[in-house]
Amino acid sequence: MVVQQGQVIQLEVTGQAHDGAGVGKYEGFTIFVPLAVPGETVKVQIELVKKNYARGKLLEILAAHPDRTEPTCPIYEECGGCQVQHLSYEAQLTYKRQQVIDHFARIGGLDEVPIRPVLGMKEPWRYRNKAQVPFGRRQGKVVAGFYAPGTHQIIDMDSCLIQHETNDEAIAKVKALADELDIPIYDEAKHTGVLRHVMVRVGFQTGEMMIVLVTNGEALPRRDELVKRLVEAFPRLTSLIQNINPKRTNVILGKKNKVLWGKSVIHDTIGEVKFAISPHSFYQVNPSQTKVLYDQVLRYAALTGEETVIDAYCGIGTIALYLAKHAKQVYGVEIVSEAIRDAKANAKLNGIKHVHFEVGAAETVMPRWLSQGIQPDVIVVDPPRKGCDPVLLKTVAGMGPERLVYVSCNSSTLARDAKILQELGYHVQEVQPVDMFPQTGHVECCALFVRKDNNQ
Ligand code: SAH
Repeated sequence: MVVQQGQVIQLEVTGQAHDGAGVGKYEGFTIFVPLAVPGETVKVQIELVKKNYARGKLLEILAAHPDRTEPTCPIYEECGGCQVQHLSYEAQLTYKRQQVIDHFARIGGLDEVPIRPVLGMKEPWRYRNKAQVPFGRRQGKVVAGFYAPGTHQIIDMDSCLIQHETNDEAIAKVKALADELDIPIYDEAKHTGVLRHVMVRVGFQTGEMMIVLVTNGEALPRRDELVKRLVEAFPRLTSLIQNINPKRTNVILGKKNKVLWGKSVIHDTIGEVKFAISPHSFYQVNPSQTKVLYDQVLRYAALTGEETVIDAYCGIGTIALYLAKHAKQVYGVEIVSEAIRDAKANAKLNGIKHVHFEVGAAETVMPRWLSQGIQPDVIVVDPPRKGCDPVLLKTVAGMGPERLVYVSCNSSTLARDAKILQELGYHVQEVQPVDMFPQTGHVECCALFVRKDNNQ
């Protein structure tokens, strides 16, 4: 091995990894260094050595890059929830774009693709509509926050600067009440105690608010008092729910929800489309940038009202319903049955009748649709991080839509799939990255592919 654990080296940082960490080569060997900025010379202590790379801790910045900035959050370095707060927001957007360019060139072999500047937020803070925070007890005191990276040690947190203020307030209030009312806090190691997690969701457009108390079993001591105090504290509270999770597991929510007060769902809107959100529903966490992203999908789809559209990997049907007004017929497919149940309910809620949702793997359902003669003009795919299944890409090409809009939360698999699509007769015309997760290393992309014989 070129480096050993504990060794201190000097490193020129030349790039940025997908998690925001700086990357450099030491005698040809790849070293990842969280919190280091491309262009910097840093002193690093090697912490982890693997076959093809090592990870190190930033000890000292020997030459700081001008893009470096003082992180706004006081617990940024311990928390691990954000990865690029040490960069100015402008610089975050520049690096995210560069990452997409690099992936298209290196993985896709596509260096000519126009990658547009990232669409960022005017105010890149307080954008999250959902918080889920583990509760614990340290030295007799109730703590709630994030796990320190790679551990289950809770970093106590009063405020998270990327959360909506209401979420912060709700968590602080439950923490104070748990202390005051002496509600037993869950002990992960012993699997004893009651209160495990608190989840809060707020509808940015409607102001509606949901608090979910996740408990280790049905019992919730001082329940009535707790409910009364939370209802008093939050006039916008719409739904207060107990979620029961008696299992020894890292999965946050259990199967069963019990409404303690108010309704079982809250509502929010994206553009003109209304959504019902339950504790288990998947819903995009940055609602204002979700609208920016979906508007981009709409532009690339270039609908006139006459088209048949497929939304593959449709989740609760957000994109399908957003496009429905502009299309003749929309089909959505998604593997999680609860999500499809939500999608159907949301279609009903909005009085949208010309959408058809089906449960199943896109790579299984779409070949069947193809054999049934469904001929989409536009296909939208929005797969998870691992990208699209090759069978799905083949089916897409077999259906021959004029346009394919690919929404991706991982530009390396997007670039890989772009290469395959290129071979299948689809040309990637343009990529528009959107910053859905400011202060973190993630970048979302929306890419337009057009059929090559379409003369575009
Ligand atoms: N388009 C939605 C959700 C995108 S997230 C939105 O914008 O809100 C990706 C979705 O793909 C998840 O809901 C996941 O459950 C689903 N999924 C994962 N693998 C799948 C597969 N093979 N076929 C269909 N859906 C799948």
